[in-house]
Amino acid sequence: MIIDFHTHIFPPEIIQHRARYCERDPWFGELYANPRASLATAEDLIAEMAISGVDASVTFSFGWSDPGLIEECNSYVLDAVRRYPGRLYGMAVLQPLAGARAERELQRCAEAGMIGLGELMPHGQGYRLCDTHLLTPLMDIVRHYQLLVLSHCSEPVGHLYPGKGDVSVQDVVAFLTAFPEVRFIAAHWGGGLPFYSLMPEIQRITAHVWYDTAATVYLYRDLIVPTVARLVGAERILFASDYGLLRQQRIIKHLQQADLDTQSLAMILGQNARSLLGII
Ligand SMILES: [Zn+2]
Repeated sequence: MIIDFHTHIFPPEIIQHRARYCERDPWFGELYANPRASLATAEDLIAEMAISGVDASVTFSFGWSDPGLIEECNSYVLDAVRRYPGRLYGMAVLQPLAGARAERELQRCAEAGMIGLGELMPHGQGYRLCDTHLLTPLMDIVRHYQLLVLSHCSEPVGHLYPGKGDVSVQDVVAFLTAFPEVRFIAAHWGGGLPFYSLMPEIQRITAHVWYDTAATVYLYRDLIVPTVARLVGAERILFASDYGLLRQQRIIKHLQQADLDTQSLAMILGQNARSLLGII
């Protein structure tokens, strides 16, 4: 079973009027003003999964600044999950700065069957992942519904790219220290966090952390896959593409060509995700 843990989908009307939304939300504009940055609907994702041999995908929309737009997109994701049961699993995007409105939205999404909160994009929405005071009410809801949390993470060094942001390892560590029991998916290999898990105190606070491979081919040399598997264990790595920005097949091939044993590859491609999602 192959499960992609990080995909983005958008309602067709946003895709049709991309330029208008790029103007409306500067962070969206930074990522998607380039027409080569693909935007996908739920149907595009389902078609992509058929081509790539992916059985299920975790999907979410985008960290808009406007909570109204977020709610509209969450509703679209919820509708897609209902239309493709067992194949799409939704996560709720939120604007934490919206306060009680964000709490209500997370409750609504959790009650409707979403499995988590993500992708958090603190840099694009004007808050920081280390702002634990702001995030505490949302994490209370996360605990109540046993939701997962998936956040964008940024490498503190290296090349700049659209959407890189500044979610530093320090911010992630501050979040994990404040909310140690929350199951946390650190996207894009956690911005380098696996390397610090060699420090015993960091290893301790990353007991409930998984690392996703979203956009890996844009970021690291091939050696990243076996290296992180050795550092944190293959059971902590989740296959993730970042579709529509990247094709699912490209990341699957990348993982298949990595220096991994068969069991580790199977865990990364689907088994780990399966246990996290509670698929029997
Ligand atoms: Zn991301």
